[in-house]
Amino acid sequence: MKRKNLLALLAFLVATAALSAQTQVIAHRGYWRAPGAAQNSIVSLQRADQIKCFGSECDVLQTRDGVLVVHHDAHIGPDKILIEEADYDQIKDIALSNGETVPTLQQYLKELKKCKNTLLVLEIKEHSTDQKMLRATRDIVKMVNRMGLKKKVYYISFMPTICDELVRIAPKSQVAYLSNQMTPRQVKERGYTGVDFHYSQFQKNPLWVRECHELGLNVNVWTVNTEELMNQMLDLGVDFITTDYPEVLQKVIFERKLHGIF
Ligand code: MG
Repeated sequence: MKRKNLLALLAFLVATAALSAQTQVIAHRGYWRAPGAAQNSIVSLQRADQIKCFGSECDVLQTRDGVLVVHHDAHIGPDKILIEEADYDQIKDIALSNGETVPTLQQYLKELKKCKNTLLVLEIKEHSTDQKMLRATRDIVKMVNRMGLKKKVYYISFMPTICDELVRIAPKSQVAYLSNQMTPRQVKERGYTGVDFHYSQFQKNPLWVRECHELGLNVNVWTVNTEELMNQMLDLGVDFITTDYPEVLQKVIFERKLHGIF
């Protein structure tokens, strides 16, 4: 092979390696710091897509009468209604800080269908009983599949009950465990596809990123909000970073590329 061709091939291989190793940006609860957005609002998903985030995270709970809603806390509104014990009618008009009413998962997924750049990192929240968590998990997977969004949804949860059920009923989907109650090896043994740990776990166990990769697990990390922490996690080579400041993270990644750091 001529030297020129060899150099071109080497440059290509280096670029491909860098590309495949690139850490992706996940907007935590959507890009809610954008104008007109609120946490877990439809607008926060739209804004995450507009700035080309790889993923937009959201939280899902189920009402007593079976409606799936996108909301972080177990309680909602000024009267702190417990979502899992309320009927949808009781909470449907509660407004988010941007004026939207609390979105249903169905509305959220309809919006996800329109997204050109962003997939959904869907957190299934803890409910008070296994029965409720299993019902929510099964209904969520059914809805995602029915809407043809299997490939555009990654699942995450703190609850092994939920992750185990996801592995069973959505075996081809990404399922990552959020809590610090398991090691990477235990996560792998349960059949999950990745970890989504708090960044302090990787500060304590920096070799875990490599261990996860050797086990074939994806590595996501939350919630990484300062440039210093972003650089630390990028140095460790995590696959995804979940942040409240997706544009800051995009800038940090861009600047590292300019300086040849991947
Ligand atoms: Mg969440």
